Amino acid sequence: MKLIMLGAPGAGKGTQAQILSDKYCIPTISTGAIIRGAIKNETPTGKLAKGYIDRGELVPDDVVIGIIKERLSEDDCTGGFILDGFPRTIPQAEALDSLGIEIDRVVDIEVDDDLIVKRLSGRRECSKCGATYHVVNNPSEKGDICERCSAPLIRRADDNPETIKSRLSVYHSQTEPLIEFYKSKGNLLVADGNGSLDATYNAIIKALEA
Ligand code: AMP
Repeated sequence: MKLIMLGAPGAGKGTQAQILSDKYCIPTISTGAIIRGAIKNETPTGKLAKGYIDRGELVPDDVVIGIIKERLSEDDCTGGFILDGFPRTIPQAEALDSLGIEIDRVVDIEVDDDLIVKRLSGRRECSKCGATYHVVNNPSEKGDICERCSAPLIRRADDNPETIKSRLSVYHSQTEPLIEFYKSKGNLLVADGNGSLDATYNAIIKALEA
């Protein structure tokens, strides 16, 4: 199974991908997490990407395409994968096509903008493994530390009000056109993501297994 999770930042792509990964025993590949790792390790890619992430802009296509190409060539991707946060532009989607990768389903999680702002403000992330939580909707059972690896939870630097605004506007102008792109290929599924985590999960499963 090769899946793409589409949706605005904060729509729940990462959280739902995490659950689907466990269900289908396939890895989730998050370009955002890979880039944040590169920034933390101060690699050349990380240094290049930092300014873009901090401003809420997209990292240039060629950089992200390079990252995904390398990651998809690893052994754990042979049985399928879930892409979280890639593609985010039409050229990125075309690059996937030209790599000969056939995507089975594209899940578009739709959430209203005002709810996105509330969600991103309460989002927390594990500083070590990248698992995502929300202080109200999806708290860690261990409080301020990660349920999975016990590392401290942090608020992402780009989850601040100014950056959230520009990320949402980037989403509408550059990523939303992918909905039509995949609709015309016939593999788009739409799930309402305005409800609870469980309601969104059920909507996704219903669409996937229909
Ligand atoms: P995310 O964790 O998916 O919200 O991504 C965080 C940030 O990483 C985004 O705001 C972008 O700056 C960058 N990023 C992640 N994935 C991509 C992508 N496919 N194309 C361009 N930039 C990306």
